[in-house]
Amino acid sequence: MIITEINTHILYHELETPFQSSFSTFAARHHCLVEIVCDDGTIGWGECLGPADINAATVKSMASMIIGRNPLDIEPIWLDTYNQFRDQGQRGPIHTALSGIDIALWDIAGKHYNAPIYQLMGGAYRTEIPAYATGGFKPVGADHAKACVEEMTACVKDGFKAVKIKIGFGVNADIATIKAVRNAIGADIALMIDANHGYDVIDATAIGRRAAEFNIEWFEEPVIPEALTSYTDLRHNQPIPIAGGETWHGRYANEEALKQNCVDILQPDVCGVGGLSEARKLITLCEVHHVRLVPHVWGTAVALAAGLHFHAIIPPSPPSHNQRSPLLEFDRTYNPFRQAIVKAPIEHKNGIVSVPNGPGLGIEIDRDALKQFAPI
Ligand code: CA
Repeated sequence: MIITEINTHILYHELETPFQSSFSTFAARHHCLVEIVCDDGTIGWGECLGPADINAATVKSMASMIIGRNPLDIEPIWLDTYNQFRDQGQRGPIHTALSGIDIALWDIAGKHYNAPIYQLMGGAYRTEIPAYATGGFKPVGADHAKACVEEMTACVKDGFKAVKIKIGFGVNADIATIKAVRNAIGADIALMIDANHGYDVIDATAIGRRAAEFNIEWFEEPVIPEALTSYTDLRHNQPIPIAGGETWHGRYANEEALKQNCVDILQPDVCGVGGLSEARKLITLCEVHHVRLVPHVWGTAVALAAGLHFHAIIPPSPPSHNQRSPLLEFDRTYNPFRQAIVKAPIEHKNGIVSVPNGPGLGIEIDRDALKQFAPI
């Protein structure tokens, strides 16, 4: 079997109601899928985290490294491609593009061996993953606290036992939002806060100290990802567990953050960190650094499927009668193509999501939906 083609598919939808994180305004949803075709007709799918057009261009620039090779040589293809680009690519689009390629190769391997990816990667510790609802962005022009309360109340009614809201809109405003959401959802629902690196260490410390009384499960991306010493300071300056890592691409960036004791919880994204092959290596890094691993997930059903296979293979740490599963990040913000591009949507039931158990990623792509959401 050899690889004959690599195609990218950009999905795009302009939002009727743009929404904001601490620094960004989302006016559209856009994601890049990777399709790898083999000479025997086998096709694999992957997805890249981040700007779709940059990812598509980067995947295309890697095609000559990959076409003509055996798709089952996943690790050699990864290393050869990375090495070709590493001088300018230790972080960023090189990793996100390579992630989409790597996931597509695992999908092909699963189809070739007629096994789900989690089985090929050593087996699942679990195939039912408890999910948390991600949302709580600020709709442009709306009252953030009111919007968060409405959205998170609906998520809890929908069966989620854990929810995450966006902060980074000013210390006092954020504390008011956190308080309102905690009052609305009650004491039994886990609540996480995500600043999308919208604070410096002084404001992040204030948020952590003042938000702690509302029983916060973790404080995500409090400061910019380059500020490793600020991350470390925050673990000592305030009481909430610190989470981060969705932009620390590759094993080396993650190792540096772990060596500096930056986080209580590491959050790699399989579509950004370098794919399933690289994500698997971070399991060992987290184990030896005694850091909890809770992956980041953001994208379409392809990203969700890849994320689910990764969640399945993360060992309980430590094993016990009451061992925890890493929570699955389940984006509840509006995205009309997220599930439309697969024939069987990946949905939650009462806040639990099943890992697809078909060959490879275990999903089937709907090509009509790809055409429907292609940019004009
Ligand atoms: Ca985040």
